Amino acid sequence: MLLVHADRELIEERITREVFERVLPLVHPQRIPLSVEAGASLDELAPFEVASQWGAPWGTTWFRCTGDIPGGWSDQRVEVIIDLGFDADSAGFQCEGLVRDADGKPMQGLHPRRMAIPVDAASGRADIVVEAASNPMFPQFQPSALGSLDTAGDKQLYRFRRADLVVVDPQGEALLHDLSVLDGVMRELAFRDQRRPRLLRVLERALDAVAGGASAGEVRRIVAPALATPAGAGVHHVIATGHAHIDTAWLWPIRETVRKCIRTFASAVDLMDRHREYVFSCSQAQQYEWVRQQEPALFERIKEKVAAGQWVPVGGMWVEADMNLPSGESLVRQIVHGQRYFEEHFGVTCREVWIPDVFGYPASLPQIYAAGGMPRFVTQKLSWNRTNRFPHHTFWWEGLDGSRVLTHFPPVDNYGAEITPKELAYSMERFAEHAWSNRSLIPYGYGDGGGGPTREMLARAERLADLDGMPRVELGTAADFFAGVEAEAAAGAPVPVWRGELYFETHRGTLTSQIRTKLGNRRCEKLFREVELWAATASVLGHDIDPHELDDLWRDVLTQQFHDILPGSSIAWVHADAEDTFERVGTDLEQRLADRLATMVPSGAFLANPASQERREVVAVATAPGGAGPTQRLADGRDACFVTAPALALAPLSAAEPHDKVVVTDRSMANGNVAVCWDLDGHLVSVIDVTRGRELLPAGRPAAVLELAADHPVRYDAWDVESWTIENGVPIPAAESITVDEAGPLVGVVAVRRTFGPSTATVRYVLRAGSPRLDIEISLDWHHDEHLLSMVFPLDVHADTATCGVQFGAVKRPTHASTSWDAAKFEVCAHRYVDVAEPDFGVAVLNNGRYGHGLFGGAIRVSLARAAKYPDPGADQGHHDVTLALFPHGAGLADVVAEAERLDVPLRVVGDGAADVLPGPVVTVTGRGVEVDAVKVADDSSGDLVVRLHEAAGNRVATTVAAPRRITAASACDLMETPQRHFEVSDGIVAITLRPFELMTLRMTLDPAGVS
Ligand SMILES: [Zn+2]
Repeated sequence: MLLVHADRELIEERITREVFERVLPLVHPQRIPLSVEAGASLDELAPFEVASQWGAPWGTTWFRCTGDIPGGWSDQRVEVIIDLGFDADSAGFQCEGLVRDADGKPMQGLHPRRMAIPVDAASGRADIVVEAASNPMFPQFQPSALGSLDTAGDKQLYRFRRADLVVVDPQGEALLHDLSVLDGVMRELAFRDQRRPRLLRVLERALDAVAGGASAGEVRRIVAPALATPAGAGVHHVIATGHAHIDTAWLWPIRETVRKCIRTFASAVDLMDRHREYVFSCSQAQQYEWVRQQEPALFERIKEKVAAGQWVPVGGMWVEADMNLPSGESLVRQIVHGQRYFEEHFGVTCREVWIPDVFGYPASLPQIYAAGGMPRFVTQKLSWNRTNRFPHHTFWWEGLDGSRVLTHFPPVDNYGAEITPKELAYSMERFAEHAWSNRSLIPYGYGDGGGGPTREMLARAERLADLDGMPRVELGTAADFFAGVEAEAAAGAPVPVWRGELYFETHRGTLTSQIRTKLGNRRCEKLFREVELWAATASVLGHDIDPHELDDLWRDVLTQQFHDILPGSSIAWVHADAEDTFERVGTDLEQRLADRLATMVPSGAFLANPASQERREVVAVATAPGGAGPTQRLADGRDACFVTAPALALAPLSAAEPHDKVVVTDRSMANGNVAVCWDLDGHLVSVIDVTRGRELLPAGRPAAVLELAADHPVRYDAWDVESWTIENGVPIPAAESITVDEAGPLVGVVAVRRTFGPSTATVRYVLRAGSPRLDIEISLDWHHDEHLLSMVFPLDVHADTATCGVQFGAVKRPTHASTSWDAAKFEVCAHRYVDVAEPDFGVAVLNNGRYGHGLFGGAIRVSLARAAKYPDPGADQGHHDVTLALFPHGAGLADVVAEAERLDVPLRVVGDGAADVLPGPVVTVTGRGVEVDAVKVADDSSGDLVVRLHEAAGNRVATTVAAPRRITAASACDLMETPQRHFEVSDGIVAITLRPFELMTLRMTLDPAGVS
């Protein structure tokens, strides 16, 4: 009977303190310190004093902890506890250990929340070997020299805290979990809920009994009835899936990620051995592959667990890639290489996209995911939105072309949950779909080398499976979750639909940070396309082509597209590795390209046009060829000439007659299409579309203005750019010099040089004969810290939205900040172009290597360079080149798409002298606005030709596809090139109607002899 009503808060404080001070010690009633040796390798071990310092940054130290197990412990549960000097609150971002057995095989990881190693008490001896990594902890948001091996120093970072042999009392351990769960539930219940005081009273009685000397087992009997009270009928259902979100690189290099995976995967397999109900979802084929190469025995154990259903490959991608920056074809290959890997090694095809931690999702993704065999999608990053709360947790996400994927944002707002009553209550409270759905997903486990799920999480899940006051908790998979939702939908539940991109309202700086990493990726993407195209051409000519000759190179690049590498949010070491990788792969691809073209055209000069559009343009060559057209000797000694080149084909290099010439006069330059004027500051003050008679610029607002802004994000320096940073940009003043570098008739170039503080910029306005666009070549020596440099183009075009090129299509974004959803889009991603247009006239700003754009204030602004200090204090210093272009055009987007491709994918001039016979295009695709993304030989070595194409301008387009030999069979395939439906072939040609923004993987068999 309660005699005195103690203060509620006082009782809650009592629970916290007494559980820690009186219940926790019941878990380990006996302990004995072990002897410790340490060294740089197992052969160099020397006695080591517990409480000593160890571990220079990024170093490896081997520890061996040994001791006799007392005979009296032989029938007890005995464990070794090793604390390397962990900080309990940041699992994964510090030192870690891997326990290896006598044969050197990985047994489990050692982490702040997993310090126990079970041992066989009957063996009489404990002998534990630990490979410990002294990865540094980074001061949050502060510049640090620790991010590179060259600057990290050799100061020892950690103090080894203990290595003990302990007896575990299972009742004491269970009591600790009982009390922590009931205490957690009690604190989550509403004050007016009558269950709260009842639970409080149960907890008080339990602690009274502990204080009175009751055994753990006796105390457990006091709390058992409360733990046995079931959840109510119809309560929310949470499916908990084990997970470890391991960033493929971030505050550590890939070298260390390999070991993080080994530790975490070993722990996961060990936990599966001990808990048959435990299920672990694991993404990123690349991480599996590292483990397969380094620890084949562990990989075999993973295969056993996949077969047993405990280990579940998810995601179907090579890595959890960034979704804004890779090209469409890169996203396709992420899926192809991921799905192929899981199929090859585990016989599994993933049905769920799994990218919880990615910085925004363009509207083309539903179509790509669905075509990759994954109609279900899990993420939750939009819970980080800084402005607007996303209205759904489970919904149909509808993309550009109308494709839909069933999408879930786990309402726990976390992909590294711990299965606590607090998280479950939060999930239930936040979940936006209670009206029609009764289930949500919770991915739990410490990521990033924190070791993944723990036995403590499983102990809580067991107690929370069916407990009054909480949702039901079931261990399961994402597939279990989606099957449940699909059943709800099939029964008529009104699943909401979100149409268009999932814009991420933070981390906008990742569109620009570490621009060299981004450009390395873009260079390789374009080279892959060229090498594959000419290999396919050679194949049609009868050459033997290995469809997998580029697989390793592709995988190297796909790995670098990971969501902290390509976005530029990693330490210096990671970006140095990325740039090295892109350089190595790029050089290799250039060589393959040269070799391939040489086998097809052994002598002579020719043009290789990898673009999906025909082109008529000026190129620079060593020596001007014969032909009808004029040439111009350039300042660098080469000759400019005007040429024509059909799409996707090799063409003879011969000069043709352009329909106009470039005239350069005092402060103006014109061809028949475009006329530009600049002022004494070197800014553009007039750009006229001559054929349509339109001035592009608003009166009094110069264009191509460089703007500089102090760039101090509040939190995540490399990730974020703030709205006020954009607003506070100041134009860089007058030009130091303005010179006419080329004066026509084929090329006119005016160069404007500026110095501002420690940086300099040269901007060259380039106009070529016959060209409908003005190129703006920017060469930047960038030595500012924590600044954003942009180029701004005010445009006299009235439009509510701008159209931004994205993978396999385009998305519209607001040109104004009318609503909070509009205002949040002050920096957006675009590939190749941003266009603002009235119905019959528009102006596009094109680029060959930038992504971040601003659309507000009647201008298009291109983010050129940043210089964040965290996590890489040297980010983006040095030289940068990029070309932008102003392109006025008539109605529709098709011309913009074509011109953007021409700028981004230059015509290649190869060889010298006159070329002999050249092959025609390997594929001829008609239809305005249809872009060809890849032409390749089929992966299955059948000799079939695979063409990936998409409708790029938002129209319904009838198109035909032809090849140099008759097409005998054609089908639309999934991304893995498996036919889904067959097309009629008529006269050796395929006719297809593409929906707006439809992506198609077309597979064709060609007649070995027939000519079409
Ligand atoms: Zn991540």
